Amino acid sequence: MRIEVLNTGSELLLGTRLNTHGQWMGQELFKLGLRIQRLVTVPDGDAIREALADAVRKADVVLVTGGLGPTSDDITREAAAAVAGIELIEDEAALRSLEAFFAKRGKAMAPDNRKQAQVPVGAEVLPNPNGTAPGIYIPPRLNGAGNCAIFLLPGPPRELYPLWQNEVVPKLRALAGGAAAEGMLQLTLAGVGESDLHQEIDADLARISGLEVGYCARLSEVDVRLIGTPAAIEAGRARVMQSFATHCFSEAGESLESVVVQGLAARGLTLATAESCTGGLIANRLTDVPGASAVLTHGWVTYANAAKASELGVSATDLETHGAVSEEVARQMAEGALRESGADAAISVTGIAGPTGGTDAKPVGTVFIGLARRGGETLVQRQLHVRDRAGFKRSVSQAVLDLIRRELLG
Ligand code: ATP
Ligand code: MG
Repeated sequence: MRIEVLNTGSELLLGTRLNTHGQWMGQELFKLGLRIQRLVTVPDGDAIREALADAVRKADVVLVTGGLGPTSDDITREAAAAVAGIELIEDEAALRSLEAFFAKRGKAMAPDNRKQAQVPVGAEVLPNPNGTAPGIYIPPRLNGAGNCAIFLLPGPPRELYPLWQNEVVPKLRALAGGAAAEGMLQLTLAGVGESDLHQEIDADLARISGLEVGYCARLSEVDVRLIGTPAAIEAGRARVMQSFATHCFSEAGESLESVVVQGLAARGLTLATAESCTGGLIANRLTDVPGASAVLTHGWVTYANAAKASELGVSATDLETHGAVSEEVARQMAEGALRESGADAAISVTGIAGPTGGTDAKPVGTVFIGLARRGGETLVQRQLHVRDRAGFKRSVSQAVLDLIRRELLG
């Protein structure tokens, strides 16, 4: 089934409002085993009619959002009627529910709202209990321009979402009939770059018949998206895991911090953080996860040398001789945090975010990461993350969370 989506609203093109409907509808449709063939965003006005006329020629279903309001820039209803070659008439039931909407709120209905009860002849009104504009469904046979079903849906998210579930989903299922649903699996990997990943597995994945592969890279993590039959997805998954099992931290779209917090909580382990160059970002990411209180006991931000010494007991002599960004200081920060917090494990980071402060021996981007464990050896790693300050902090926090995952969650 060929589906096109038309998101209307000048604010979506002026950059004042992000088009979240496009993303949301893509996800909702995929849950039904359906996919958007084309997503178009148009400003309010004549562009809606032109885009709709084009879409009905190319699609079996067109989903339009926005422009059902009472104001002069809301012309979706008129545009759809014109494209389908059907007249608009006032729908009795729609008018009554519009009046009831205002009565319930103790308000008189403005004359302009009356046009929201206008419906193309023969179209179906989709009740919208959360707003004034009902949705409208124009079945395929009614559409003079082709054999295409048209849905007109309200723009406000709190109106669109319930109406979608109650009215649109059942109709889409019926329209799709028994069309074979494809599945999707998304693997998220840390500690491997998109190009290395691609280089290693892409040729093999391409040989799996019926499998569609996609990659999506973000700072320090990458998604591998596998779409197809269950057998094709399983073959694809096996190939990714053969090379990258230790890098894969989620098969369900979870964040790394969420995997870490849930994994530590499941094992009954607590954690403390001692951060310098990341300025608390690691603790911040951990506390973004519901249930973090079962895991995180303390988060220090010891930015100055004096704080590293007084809070965590880092040796003033070592700070002097090796510098704050050193293996010795990272080790002592982690061990100090472990001792002071009483947690089961503690991590530390100390590094040079830049743009200044680098040397030949320790260039900008150098970072030392420590991990101390109750009854275990302290681990210290030296890494290089050359990015702007915000990217450096994010990338280092990712490396630390991934180290915790590998070392403490096995
Ligand atoms: P109204 O009666 O509110 O005018 P409407 O159906 O005409 O309803 P719009 O005017 O297009 O809808 O949008 C109403 C609200 O919903 C606005 O705040 C708008 O920014 C938001 N909205 C509309 N479309 C989108 C979209 N694609 N993504 C995110 N927000 C949207
Ligand atoms: Mg509007």
